[in-house]
Amino acid sequence: MLYDAISFWVQLTYVGRVTEYLDPSAPFWVIGADRPGPWLITCDHATNRVPPDINGGDLGLPAADMNRHIAFDPGSLGVSLALGELLDSPVIATNFSRLVIDPNRGEDDPTVLMRLYDGTIIPANRHANAAERERRLATYHRPYHDAYEALAQQKADPAVLAIHSFTPQLTGRPRRPWEIGILFASDDRLSRCLISELQKDASLTVGINEPYSGHLPGDSIDRHALRSGRQNTLVELRNDLISNVEDQRAWARRLREPLTNALNAVHQKDSADA
Ligand SMILES: [Zn+2]
Repeated sequence: MLYDAISFWVQLTYVGRVTEYLDPSAPFWVIGADRPGPWLITCDHATNRVPPDINGGDLGLPAADMNRHIAFDPGSLGVSLALGELLDSPVIATNFSRLVIDPNRGEDDPTVLMRLYDGTIIPANRHANAAERERRLATYHRPYHDAYEALAQQKADPAVLAIHSFTPQLTGRPRRPWEIGILFASDDRLSRCLISELQKDASLTVGINEPYSGHLPGDSIDRHALRSGRQNTLVELRNDLISNVEDQRAWARRLREPLTNALNAVHQKDSADA
């Protein structure tokens, strides 16, 4: 069952002509593989799809839970696709819920297959054993990461731009004040430049490694950027600000110049240091 199927696919048709080519049953999508721009835009938590081989396509959660941040990053796919067009750069996006298997966790991370998330028990994961975990890794997690790495290797020096979204408030916690958070781990070159660019806009409250730290060994940035020295940054947008296609496109337009300026700045620094 594809939760919220109608509104989701109606949304996609507005995002751009490229979405005509997105196969709803594919485990992930690569859009614009041959675009010449310097970025590799990634969307690890793009959709809430539960494929049919996972408990008949149903994790046992109510649709209301499948449509909130525990199952995916609402709005992140639309922003990623719009940025791909604006920056003329390739995009890779998953098409399985993070509750199926979380592509932004290392294979050995205990949270790669969640049994509980933000106070909600996931019935179909409760008894998922090691064999089922391995099956989900082999069917979804690894093929996505193989395609991600192959796409990264198509360019000499791609900058990895990971797009995520966060919920304004976790259950029982204070409201989060940031509109946007920039996350990084040991390599903060691009993120620091992007933060400086974003802070020129006085109307923005920019989270620096907020709402959570960008340091997570084995996550996507670690695998595909830190280990190989690729420029990288992870952008978290508050999901109430990107809940419709107009807002997703508006945020992509708003991010275009800061991203471009930040990447130019790190490249200038790199060549000055060389
Ligand atoms: Zn995410």
